[in-house]
Amino acid sequence: MSENINNCEESEKKGLNFVEQIVYNDLQEGKNGGRLNTRFPPEPNGYLHIGHAKAICMDFGVAEKFGGTCNLRFDDTNPVKEDVEYVDAIREDIHWLGFDWGDREYYASDYFPQLFDLAVRMIKEGKAYVDDQTSEQIAAQKGTPTQPGQNSPYRDRTPEENLDLFMRMNAGEFPDGARVLRAKIDMASDNMHFRDPVMYRIITKYPHHRTGTQWKVYPMYDFAHGQSDFFEGVTHSICTLEFVPHRPLYEYFAKELAGEGDYCPRQIEFNRLNLTYTVMSKRKLLQLVQEGHVAGWDDPRMPTISGMRRRGYTPESIRNFIDTIGYTKYEALNSVSLLEHAVRNDLNRVATRVMAVVNPVKLVITNYPEDKVEQVCMENNPEDPESGVHQMPFSREIYIERDDFMENPPKKFFRLAPGGEVRLKGAYIIKCEDTVKDADGNIIEIRCTYDPDTLSGMPGSMRKVKGTLHWVSAQHAVDATVRMYDRLFNVENPAAETERDFRELLNPDSMKVVEGVKIEPYLAEMAKEGAKFQFQRVGYFTPDKDSTDGNLIFNRTIALKDTWEKINK
Ligand code: ATP
Ligand code: MG
Repeated sequence: MSENINNCEESEKKGLNFVEQIVYNDLQEGKNGGRLNTRFPPEPNGYLHIGHAKAICMDFGVAEKFGGTCNLRFDDTNPVKEDVEYVDAIREDIHWLGFDWGDREYYASDYFPQLFDLAVRMIKEGKAYVDDQTSEQIAAQKGTPTQPGQNSPYRDRTPEENLDLFMRMNAGEFPDGARVLRAKIDMASDNMHFRDPVMYRIITKYPHHRTGTQWKVYPMYDFAHGQSDFFEGVTHSICTLEFVPHRPLYEYFAKELAGEGDYCPRQIEFNRLNLTYTVMSKRKLLQLVQEGHVAGWDDPRMPTISGMRRRGYTPESIRNFIDTIGYTKYEALNSVSLLEHAVRNDLNRVATRVMAVVNPVKLVITNYPEDKVEQVCMENNPEDPESGVHQMPFSREIYIERDDFMENPPKKFFRLAPGGEVRLKGAYIIKCEDTVKDADGNIIEIRCTYDPDTLSGMPGSMRKVKGTLHWVSAQHAVDATVRMYDRLFNVENPAAETERDFRELLNPDSMKVVEGVKIEPYLAEMAKEGAKFQFQRVGYFTPDKDSTDGNLIFNRTIALKDTWEKINK
């Protein structure tokens, strides 16, 4: 019996990623009294992107897996860039991904008083000093990894003088940038982060979104993060690899708080998510928004969670993709095709099949009665037997895609051509008899006959033809607009480009708007924000929030097949 349990545990252990493995071992060893508490710590200075989704899946996922809790903590230590708009968007995006922090919503700004007290204590103990130099001067004295830095001329101020200056910094007596508070550690340390890191800076010109103008000094990330984790009882502080060199400093400050034998949060780092044809830096994303290269943070071309939601991606597809790429200790560039593959897989499962003709040409069935309308039966989703069917009107005049007809077709063209036959999906087999052209020789109408014995699903409809086309009844069609999206950038790794500014790498064809798309009435009726459709033979689409009563707008979430893979091959 006990052997069975062990086997079970062993095999479960094998499926764990390296972070889960560490957490599992800590729990097994009874560390932190068996407690598990993680946190997701976004800075509310932009919208969340798919990279954050990877961190969210880890932070919330590992807590869920081992019966712990995960805090949402806004890392709001820099009022210059932060805003409540971002706080609200971050909350919405985490919920949409399927995670919940319950009542554990915290703010680094909640700890400003404790952090200030700690700074004062460190000043009194001679562990921190006020430096009057500019940030440029401080940077110039920092040294290099192979060369020690130089001590600041202000390093040996007395605790009394430091305390007086720090208090006056916070009283608003000095302008922004005039002075900083630094930790007095070691200007010759091998770890650059130990070379007297800045703890506090003056910010007077921007009110804080929560504390208003109460504070004139604000803690730096390194002086806030570990301590905030400690105050909250976070046991595992999981972050990305660029924080590896910060870890000793994280522990240094946390230990200023943790007493002997006290618990201390543990920082663990994994690799960031980087995607091809995408930039992930919030600074660059903000630039795209502010300079109008995109229509906002939730533009469907943006790698933001809100952009992906608006584009029609599902939370499941994002989570599946993140599962697929996994968590490692090595930086990598993941192919966006892998994400798109996950999106197609999930939409294939959930999308309602409908007909829409994107580039319509009229087709008249000359032997079909003029006022007759038949309702033909369409399957909603062959992948989901529960999804049922809907009716679609068929009549003498329909629209088909212009591309589905060729006057002089090449050999393997199985669509419509003069004298040829195709099946209209869900309806009849038709034969092309003639075309009507305008003065310039453009085809404006295709004339066909239909075979009345070939209605899909009826006995006698067994006759086979090679091609099947989608179509919409002309008199019943509703006009719609579609927005076709392509990759936002033209180069595989825009972040690695050194010669050109990233804005020069934007794909000028990342969005094409097509008006006059003919859609079946059922689609017009079902088109609500969030609904997922497959326009048969075209792609996956979702209604956009810009839709109005008279003008339905659809976003193409993704084409049915990956054309980029083909081009690359
Ligand atoms: P930027 O560096 O673009 O300014 P950031 O990464 O600092 O943004 P935060 O809001 O501070 O943004 O990030 C919150 C959490 O999300 C952090 O723990 C961070 O490690 C994680 N994170 C951010 N970007 C990625 C990414 N590309 N892949 C995985 N995790 C990420
Ligand atoms: Mg950050």
